[in-house]
Amino acid sequence: MNLVLMGLPGAGKGTQAERIVERYDIPHISTGDMFRAAIKDSTELGLQAKSFMDKGELVPDEVTIGIVRERLSKDDCKKGFLLDGFPRTAAQAEALESILADFDRNIHYVINIEVDKNILMDRLTGRRICKNCGATYHLVFNPPAVEGKCDRCGGELYQRADDNEETVQNRLDVNLKQTKPLLDFYEDKGYVRNIDGQQDIDKVFRDVVELLGELR
Ligand SMILES: [Zn+2]
Repeated sequence: MNLVLMGLPGAGKGTQAERIVERYDIPHISTGDMFRAAIKDSTELGLQAKSFMDKGELVPDEVTIGIVRERLSKDDCKKGFLLDGFPRTAAQAEALESILADFDRNIHYVINIEVDKNILMDRLTGRRICKNCGATYHLVFNPPAVEGKCDRCGGELYQRADDNEETVQNRLDVNLKQTKPLLDFYEDKGYVRNIDGQQDIDKVFRDVVELLGELR
């Protein structure tokens, strides 16, 4: 079960990833975790990655791809894996194809969780935080009992600058633009399976399970 998980911020990728790896007992491989592990183990590639990150620079593809290769060669990936956050570009996707070919494997599905951009905007701009105690709320998913006030301490709720409409819009646009060529690449290969991410979380997961049932 060799899977790549895709979806824009707010699409619910994290939740679905957790459920998939739990149900199918495959490792969840995210770029951040991979980098952290390689750095912790002081592998040669890990140290190279660290030197770029310390300078605040992007880790070059050749280093990232090397780290992915190391990770996918580990025993826990024999049954399969769920890649999340990698590949990010069509070039990385091509590199992944060649890594997997070396291991005599291939991607089975690219699970793409689709959510309308307006709904993502609502999800991503709805967070509110208590100025006083830091409790977090969400206007749609977890609203306070009294508008603008913290349930716990009565403190005033505010919106973080990261969550404002313009920033979120921009983040989504950048993501959409980056993701398009990657999705096109995988569409051409016939790997992409779109899942409707606008349903409730349990229903989204049931659709994923139904899809993955075809692999067994
Ligand atoms: Zn509070």
